Amino acid sequence: MTPDRPISELFARQRPLRSLEFFPPKDDAGVESLRATAAALKRMNPDFVSVTYGAGGTTRDRTAQVSTLLKNEFQYTVMPHLTCVGHSRTELGEIADRIHAGGFRNIMTLRGDPPKGASEFTVAADGLRNASELVSLLKSRHAGFCLGVAGYPEKHPEAPSLDVDLTNLKRKVDAGADFITTQLFFDNTLYYRFVERCRAAGITIPIVPGIMPVLSLKQIQRFTSMCGATLPQQLITRLEVAAENADVLETIGIDWALTQIRGLIANGAPGYHLYILNRAKGALALTAGLAA
Ligand SMILES: Cc1cc2nc3c(=O)[nH]c(=O)nc-3n(C[C@H](O)[C@H](O)[C@H](O)COP(=O)(O)OP(=O)(O)OC[C@H]3O[C@@H](n4cnc5c(N)ncnc54)[C@H](O)[C@@H]3O)c2cc1C
Repeated sequence: MTPDRPISELFARQRPLRSLEFFPPKDDAGVESLRATAAALKRMNPDFVSVTYGAGGTTRDRTAQVSTLLKNEFQYTVMPHLTCVGHSRTELGEIADRIHAGGFRNIMTLRGDPPKGASEFTVAADGLRNASELVSLLKSRHAGFCLGVAGYPEKHPEAPSLDVDLTNLKRKVDAGADFITTQLFFDNTLYYRFVERCRAAGITIPIVPGIMPVLSLKQIQRFTSMCGATLPQQLITRLEVAAENADVLETIGIDWALTQIRGLIANGAPGYHLYILNRAKGALALTAGLAA
């Protein structure tokens, strides 16, 4: 088993970096369909892929299972996500050791969302309060880990202001984070302003824009209501016109994402991270569009 290279080395060597995010399926049938998606995406040759971490229960084991599958069967560089939710410090340290022993050297380091049904985050017994504490723990456990953290161009929903959120982001960076991946956004000016504010605050690490090709108005309204991202009226109108026509909706989502990515790369973004929802079509269409 060859250990992965730290993603920070890739940022230093090559740009734009292209990455994809998977989520762990609920059952074995879902794993099989993810396998097919991963095989199809080999053609795109992403620089790395990430696998989200659920709020509890068996999907957490699936994160480990799917990360190993993507690494060993497909030779992807894989960044598992890890959150503080429901874990003591000791458990988090042990999980970090298992991730390291599996040959992974990159972790998306998060506080995490509350489990279904809970309205707010609560600290586990002998647990951690926020992502910066997890960054510190992971770096002290394995200094060679390369750690990504989350950034919020429109601020984290719980933060009282953009400035407070930026101060807390700086804490994660000062604790040792190596790069930032942003929450999804649909208006590039939000990203440009966010990067400017980060740079002014002394944050110098790469800030990777997170992009989601939209599949339907209903779906994206559900996501944005959870994460606080704004939907531009122009995008809403286009999706409304397409109504229930899935093919047209998907084309609109891909076109919007393509325009976003072209603008971001032209304006110096270090790459882009695609929230693909375990589907290959959007990522492949974007790759083809960007190559044209
Ligand atoms: C790229 C990306 C990937 C994600 N992947 C997952 C995933 O796999 N699983 C999952 O459950 N969720 C995931 N999320 C969602 C994320 O867990 C939630 O947004 C969560 O509510 C916050 O996590 P965080 O790591 O940003 O937390 P933190 O950085 O800890 O921030 C959480 C809140 O606390 C505040 N805060 C931080 N530090 C302090 C401090 N020292 N004092 C006071 N306030 C503080 C912040 O301003 C913010 O409002 C992801 C989000 C992104 C953008």
